[in-house]
Amino acid sequence: MAKKKKKKVDFKKKLIPLEQVVEVAQERIIELGDNGGITLTPYSMGAWSPSKQKLLDKCPLKFLLDYVLKVQVIEEEKKTDDGALRHIGTAAHSILEWIIQGMDIEEAYEKAHKEHYKDVTEEHWHKVVSLQPNIEEFMFRLKIFKAQHKVAHIFPELKLGVDKDWQPVDFFDDNAFFRGIVDLPMLMENGDIVIIDHKHGGFPEFGIRNYNEQLDTYKALFHFGKQKVNNAAAGIHFIKAGDILIGNKTPASSIEQIPNKLQVYIEGSVDQINDKGEFKYKRNSICTYCDYQPICHNGKRGTSNLLQPITELSREIL
Ligand code: SF4
Repeated sequence: MAKKKKKKVDFKKKLIPLEQVVEVAQERIIELGDNGGITLTPYSMGAWSPSKQKLLDKCPLKFLLDYVLKVQVIEEEKKTDDGALRHIGTAAHSILEWIIQGMDIEEAYEKAHKEHYKDVTEEHWHKVVSLQPNIEEFMFRLKIFKAQHKVAHIFPELKLGVDKDWQPVDFFDDNAFFRGIVDLPMLMENGDIVIIDHKHGGFPEFGIRNYNEQLDTYKALFHFGKQKVNNAAAGIHFIKAGDILIGNKTPASSIEQIPNKLQVYIEGSVDQINDKGEFKYKRNSICTYCDYQPICHNGKRGTSNLLQPITELSREIL
């Protein structure tokens, strides 16, 4: 494909069966090539979120499919245990959000049944039901925390956005450079913030080290996107394991270094892809939950099986 004059192409998300992913991705990548390809920079890929930024580093090939070519495997294709796990987590998140806002737990479960049962499926719904004691325990611990600490305000499921100068913008603003939905930020009367992120899975016995980058991003998003704080502490509520782990306090002076670190991290990932000149697969921990796994794994050594042509075509658009 000869490089042509660049014209921005913004694909609409396309829901397709897994067996059509390669064909549709190829069509779209050729269309991109016909329009001059893409310029991959930290500012040319739309707003970043903790998961998008992590994916660029973890697997450039999946990043290309998800965020540039915007193919998405239809729900019916995801009726695996891993697919169901995602929906169980979403249902549990909704239940927590509603009861933190004051809804009765039985009512929250009824509402979740209406909204999430189809996706979770009959086979797995009992797993949502089995989380109820842990959710009740979490609410009990939250009540004790509130009684013992001076909580000024709770902002459940807070949507935050900042522009490239880390000035606050609306979550959906076209100028948003970074954005995120923070599950449970609690602003204290002393100007500190305590942030809790709900995770359906995970193992508290391994600590929260693997979540630190995401939690730091939330601290910075709150500090710059909502309100300046004196200190921030953040942690994980492991819903299935029924445990909460909170990390150390970060003072404002350190929170203010986070945007620079994020910038360097994104630039590093972008540079690596530009230097390689292709969006290559990287085997990593998210493969287990990746929709493309059945067509990506078990190919010829050193390739991404049926997805290999996408990587090869990607050389023509960078
Ligand atoms: S299965 Fe793994 S290597 Fe393949 S696209 Fe998904 S995340 Fe990348």
